[in-house]
This record gives sequence, structure tokens and C-alpha cells, in this order.
Amino acid sequence: MSSIIEAEKLHFAYVRVPVLEDISFAVEKGDYVGIIGPNGGGKTTLLKLLLGLEQGKGKIKLFDQPLAQFKDWRKIGYLAQKSPVSQSRFPVSAEEVVLMGLSDRHGSGVSLGELKQVHEAMQKTRTREYAGRIFHDLSIGQQQRVLLARALVSNPELLILDEPSTALDPESREMFFDLLGELNAKRGVTILLITHDTGEVGKYISKFMYIDKTLVFYGTKEEFCHSQAVAEKLGAFAQHTIDHLHNHGHCPLGCTCGEAEK
Ligand code: ADP
Repeated sequence: MSSIIEAEKLHFAYVRVPVLEDISFAVEKGDYVGIIGPNGGGKTTLLKLLLGLEQGKGKIKLFDQPLAQFKDWRKIGYLAQKSPVSQSRFPVSAEEVVLMGLSDRHGSGVSLGELKQVHEAMQKTRTREYAGRIFHDLSIGQQQRVLLARALVSNPELLILDEPSTALDPESREMFFDLLGELNAKRGVTILLITHDTGEVGKYISKFMYIDKTLVFYGTKEEFCHSQAVAEKLGAFAQHTIDHLHNHGHCPLGCTCGEAEK
């Protein structure tokens, strides 16, 4: 299997306050990694390091290339926690927002090829019906799907998302996660997702990463359920509770530990 991301001994501090220490991991092609951990644990900072938006110590490789030499950013779609376009009141259409995802385009005209890419991305995220509407007039759930279309417009092989579901109502959230699951399962897109919705994503993700300044845990869902390191952080069985194990009487991650409690 080829690694999409390799991180080795990452350390990072904001003005001498350590935020991340000794983080090493590899993400393989087709992985769907749910990144969890307490607020302020360094999850967003880690994604920024991987994208070269912050610089720390250690080695990062993207698609087998050292980060400093990596140029093919079209391979990566990024949906930040706070997108500047969501905060600006500039009256752009949903379609124009998606077009912005083709960051290396030149000139003001739009080629037919680019238009096709935009339409395809909007098709995938089921946003074509409001392509011509002003972005800010859309609901938060619709806006988030348009921003996902923007992250997808260059047909990335890797999608990096920072808490994309925080502002969504339960219905939009489910639709959003279904969509990501489909992209991963049917189109083989590798996904890294910071989320608090562990129960919701549990059915789709293949791996959990628990970040609390250090890499507390990285492995499959089953390993997560049995992890001593996670139990020590969260308390015994709490890793199941955060996945609503006991609300449902079984672990939605497919783990059998709950049997012992019945
Ligand atoms: P998480 O995503 O897990 O909530 P963050 O990566 O956002 O964590 O933040 C990790 C720590 O770094 C927090 O203590 C936060 O206050 C601090 N931090 C984040 N951004 C900055 C910044 N630009 N300057 C200084 N400290 C920051």
C-alpha cells in the first residue's frame, strides 16, 4: 500500500508553548481517519502542519514527496473550520464559490472544462439545483455542501476536513457524513476528518486518531475500542460511551466489548 501522508516526529509550539509533541503516523490510500480529542488538543494545528500552513519540527511527506517539494495541491481538498467565504458578505453565487476551488486557474474567463468540473463537483454534493443562488442566502447545511464541492472540484485524492459538521442540523449532518462515506467507499478518496460526531462517523471511518498534544491513539475502530491508552484518557468504557455504545446496547463500531457489560 502506498502512503498518502507520512508524519515523523512532529513537534510544534506557538511562541514556546508546546502544542504538539512527537507525533508520527502514516495514512494509507483509501483510509478514512476520524481525528478526535479534547478542545485545544492540537488537532487543527496538526492539519495546518500537514498542509504547510504552519511550520514545526519533524518530517512530513505527502504522496511520497517531502512537503517542501510537494507542488501538486490539486490532489488535496481542504475544508477549513472557518472558511473566509462564509465570513465575507460578498454576493457570490454558489457556483462561483465552487469555481474558486480551481485555485491555479488563470485569467477571468471560465473554460468549458472548468465549468464541467464545477458541475460534476456540484452533482456529487447535490448542490446543482442552487448553483445560481447567492451563497449567503443558502442554509448553513447547503453552504457547507457547496464548500465541500469547492474542496472536491479538482478531483482530489485526499480530502482534509476540520469539523465540517459543527454548525449543521442533525439531518444535514447525516447527509454530509453519508456523502463523505460515499466518496471514500465508491471513489476511493482518502479522508482526514476532525470531528466531535464520533457516533455519526463511526459507521464510515476506518481509523481513529486521538490527539491530545501527543498521539494518544492511532489505529482501527476495533483497536480503538480495546485501547488501554484511550481507556486511560477517557476512563474505562468511555471510548464506547462516546460512540453511544450503551445507548444502543451494542457498539456501532462493530466492537464486541459491550457484551461484557450486558
Ligand atoms: P484543537 O483543534 O484540538 O481544538 P488547536 O490546534 O486549535 O486545537 O489548538 C491547540 C492549542 O494551540 C490551543 O491551546 C490553542 O489555544 C493554541 N493556538 C491555536 N492557534 C493559535 C495561534 N494562532 N496562536 C497561539 N496559540 C494558538
